[in-house]
Amino acid sequence: MARVLLINGGSEGHINPTLGVVQELISRGEEVVYVTAEQYRDRVEGTGAEVITFDGGKFVEAFLAGGRNPWARVGGLLRTADIVIPSVLEQTKGERFDYIIHDSMFGCGRLLAQILDLPAINSCTSFAIQQNSFDNQQDHLSRQFSADVNERAQQEFQQLVSNMQTKYNVQVGSAYEVFCNPAPLTIVYTSKHFQPRGESFDETYKFVGPSIVPRSHGQFDLSHVDTDHLIYISLGTVFNQAVDFYKLCFAAFSETKYTVILSVGRQTQIAELGDIPANFIVRNYVPQLEVLQRAKLFITHGGMNSTSEGFYYGVPLIVLPQSADQPMVARRVAEIGAGIHLNQEGLTAGDLREAAERVFKDASLRMVSVEIGDSFRSAGGYHRAVEEIFAYKRSLGITK
Ligand code: UDP
Repeated sequence: MARVLLINGGSEGHINPTLGVVQELISRGEEVVYVTAEQYRDRVEGTGAEVITFDGGKFVEAFLAGGRNPWARVGGLLRTADIVIPSVLEQTKGERFDYIIHDSMFGCGRLLAQILDLPAINSCTSFAIQQNSFDNQQDHLSRQFSADVNERAQQEFQQLVSNMQTKYNVQVGSAYEVFCNPAPLTIVYTSKHFQPRGESFDETYKFVGPSIVPRSHGQFDLSHVDTDHLIYISLGTVFNQAVDFYKLCFAAFSETKYTVILSVGRQTQIAELGDIPANFIVRNYVPQLEVLQRAKLFITHGGMNSTSEGFYYGVPLIVLPQSADQPMVARRVAEIGAGIHLNQEGLTAGDLREAAERVFKDASLRMVSVEIGDSFRSAGGYHRAVEEIFAYKRSLGITK
């Protein structure tokens, strides 16, 4: 039995895919200590892992401190090291671990692996990114800022790198290394088929497909819902304060044949939305996996988990990207022919209704979605992830 230190940040999308992996590791005899923000304690403890937490508020504050510039955004990830690293070292003092699994973005796990001198496995909950794509993306995003602003942000980033190296005696490496945390083994929770340029990744990337485990959510009765014309709408758990958009959904689909389940997120007051049309069910949070098993169309922000979950159940998507990796996901969904990419800016109720009608009419969108779902299932999910982790352990001579 090996002891595993799992380092994650505080975001549902980065945590959910790891839950099946952790559950499976534990059922196969590993002991897992899982580091995350306090609000995820119950969910993670449900897997049987021991949970230790850092200050989630300070973590988010550090991440957002630099602002929107792409260099500052990468710097923000590095700033979170000051919240996570001291806290983990303090709470695990005197403990021994055999390897680390770290998120590909949040939690500074790659730096902790260096400090603790442990083999590392990267857990990638979005598309995997190679150095050249990352560089192109930084260039593209930098174009929204003046040369002066970019230069200052790059200098600040370099200063931050050098401060961290001195403070923790680690090699931080390039912006790509900070943002993507490359490791000798990367578990990617999508299929090679859905990953853009999937064939270009080497054997250290294992595309295991979405890691989906049933989640308990309390009561939500779907027995009376007409599932033939069921649309599910959600902008995820982060970028979801969008009262105007929710009202636009009312205008698009009220008094139509569609039944609409709308998840508005925990930060939105449902009362703010005014009158709710009779064919809408509006909640702050719904059991998404259960809803998707019945929905015929998913209107989503294109979060990687939501996207994967939709396709897992063969549901075509309309993607309205908000931020982060979502524009990339939206482009891939449209490119592969499993849905429609819409921009929220300037979107009208008529545009949204027309796009929905197209999805209901166009059988090919559903067919491609089902194909992607098949590629997900045959990729193996969390069982395969654990097989790959164990093969990596064996290659290192870890026999426990
Ligand atoms: N989710 C859910 N019910 C909701 C809204 C979201 O269960 O009403 C879950 C969803 O199934 C997914 C996660 O929250 O696993 C959202 O992750 P995603 O990567 O799609 O977006 P994020 O919230 O990180 O923007």
